[in-house]
Amino acid sequence: MTKTIVWFRNDLRIHDHPALHAAAGKDVLPVFLLDQTLLTSGRHSANRNRFLIESLKDLRESLKSIGSNLIILDGDVQTLIDFSKKHDVTKIHYSIDYTPYARKRDAAVKQLCDDASIDFVGYPGRLAVDSVKDIVTKSSQAYKVFTPFYRNWSEVSRRDVLPAPKQLSAVPQSVAIGSLPTLKDVADDLHLSPDAAAGGESTARRRMKDFLDNDVTSYINNQNDLGVDGTSRLSSYLHFGCLSVRELEAQLTDADNQAAFRRQLAWRDFYHYVLLHYPDNTKQEFQERYRGRAWTENEDLLKAWQDAKTGYPIVDAAMTQLHKEGWMHNRARLIVGSFLTKDLGIDWRSGEDHFLRWLTDGDMANNNGNWQWIASVGVDPAPVFRRLYNPSSQQEKYDPDGNYVRRYLPVFKDVPTKYLGKPWEMTDDQQAEYGVQIGKDYPQPVVDHTQARQRALEWYRAN
Ligand SMILES: Cc1cc2nc3c(=O)[nH]c(=O)nc-3n(C[C@H](O)[C@H](O)[C@H](O)COP(=O)(O)OP(=O)(O)OC[C@H]3O[C@@H](n4cnc5c(N)ncnc54)[C@H](O)[C@@H]3O)c2cc1C
Repeated sequence: MTKTIVWFRNDLRIHDHPALHAAAGKDVLPVFLLDQTLLTSGRHSANRNRFLIESLKDLRESLKSIGSNLIILDGDVQTLIDFSKKHDVTKIHYSIDYTPYARKRDAAVKQLCDDASIDFVGYPGRLAVDSVKDIVTKSSQAYKVFTPFYRNWSEVSRRDVLPAPKQLSAVPQSVAIGSLPTLKDVADDLHLSPDAAAGGESTARRRMKDFLDNDVTSYINNQNDLGVDGTSRLSSYLHFGCLSVRELEAQLTDADNQAAFRRQLAWRDFYHYVLLHYPDNTKQEFQERYRGRAWTENEDLLKAWQDAKTGYPIVDAAMTQLHKEGWMHNRARLIVGSFLTKDLGIDWRSGEDHFLRWLTDGDMANNNGNWQWIASVGVDPAPVFRRLYNPSSQQEKYDPDGNYVRRYLPVFKDVPTKYLGKPWEMTDDQQAEYGVQIGKDYPQPVVDHTQARQRALEWYRAN
C-alpha cells in the first residue's frame, strides 16, 4: 500500500492544518525530521529548542489520540527521502514556509523527490492569507510600505478554517517511531529562561481562548502599556505553528476594538511577504544607502545593553524580561532596539542575534523585519527622529506607574515613580532614603541621551 508523509516543520498542530487535512483518509505517516544542524547551528536557541521539544511531545499525544503517532527521524533531508523509499511513500505533504533558508531547502527536497518519483506537495497554513505573494500594487510591484499592504491584505478572501482530523490510519508496526531528544541534548542551562512559556498546541489553544474571551477587546487600549499584561503572548505558538494564524484571525469580529489586534497579525504576514520578495534582507539593509556603513564597534556598550546594565531602567527592565521569560513586550522591544541602534550606534544585527538567541518566538522574518524597522534601514521608512526614542520619556509614557520597571528591577522597589525615568537625578540623600545608590547598586547611564540623539541624527543624515 502506498503512503503519504505529512512532514511537520513549523506547523506543530493538528487543527487547521491543510497539509494534514489533505492527507487524512489515506495511509499517513506523520514525520518530524530532527536535523541536528538546526538544533545546534550558530542561530539556535536553548529556549526555542525547549519549546520545540514540548511542542513535539504535545503533537505526538494529539496524533496518538486520533489513532496515529509522530515519527521522529534523526537526520537531514536525505534521511527523509531514504525513509520514503523504504516505506513505499509516494507523496510528501508540507506547509509552505517563506524564509530564504526554508525555500532553498524545499527546492532541494523537491529535486530529490523528483528523482525518486515522489510528489512533494506544498500547502498553505503559515500565514493568515494563503497567497500573500500576490498582494501587489496597481503596477504589480511588491509593497514596501505597510499601510497600503494592510488595506489590500484586509480585502483578500480567506480559506475556510479546517477541523482537526477525527481519525488517522495507524502507523504500521514496521516503522520505528523514534524518540524525542531530551532537554539536556539540545539546551544549555546558561541560555534557558526560568520563566519561559511552555510549548505545544494544547497550551496554545487554551491561551488563545483565554485571550479571546477576556482581553481582545481591551487590547486596543492596553497594547502599549508595559505594566499591563494586555497582549496575547501567542507569538511563540504562531512561530512554531502550534496555532494557525488563520484560525485565530477567523475568530475576531468586525468590531472596531478588535481591528488593532488584526492589524498586528497583518504585520506578521507583511514581514514574511517582505522576506519572500527581498530575501537578501537577511544579510543586508533593505535601504541601499545604509549598506556597508560603519556602525559603532564598542564591546563594552554592547555588553552593557545585553547584560541589562545601561543605567536606563526601562531598557534594563526590558532586557531582564527577555532573559527571564524568553519573551519581551513589543513596546519594550522598540525601546531597546532604538537604544541599541540610535543611542549606542551599534549595528542592528547585534540586536537581531541577541534576540534570536533568547526569544522563544525568535523568527527570521519578524525579527529581521522589526530590527530593520527600528534601525530605520528597512521597508516602511519614516524620518529617523520618529523612531528615535527618549528612554526616560518612554518609561514615563508607557510605564506610568513604574510597575514594569519594578517587576524586573527590584532594586527600584522603594523608589518613587517620578525618578524611574532618570534615577541618576536623585540626590545622595534620596538615594540613601530609597535604598539604591546609583553607581553602586545600579549603574550610571552609559550614554547621555541628548548627546546620543544628536550624534545619531547627524550619522543618519550623513548617509
Ligand atoms: C526589534 C523587534 C524584534 C522582534 N522580533 C520578533 C520575533 O523574532 N518574532 C516575533 O514573532 N515577533 C517579533 N517582534 C514583533 C513583536 O514584538 C512580537 O510579535 C510581539 O511582542 C509578540 O507578543 P504577543 O504575541 O503578545 O503580540 P500581540 O500584540 O498579541 O500580537 C499578536 C500577534 O501579532 C504578531 N505581531 C505583533 N506585532 C508584530 C510585529 N511588530 N511584527 C510582526 N508580527 C507582529 C505576532 O505574531 C503576535 O503574536 C519583534 C519586534 C521588535 C520591535
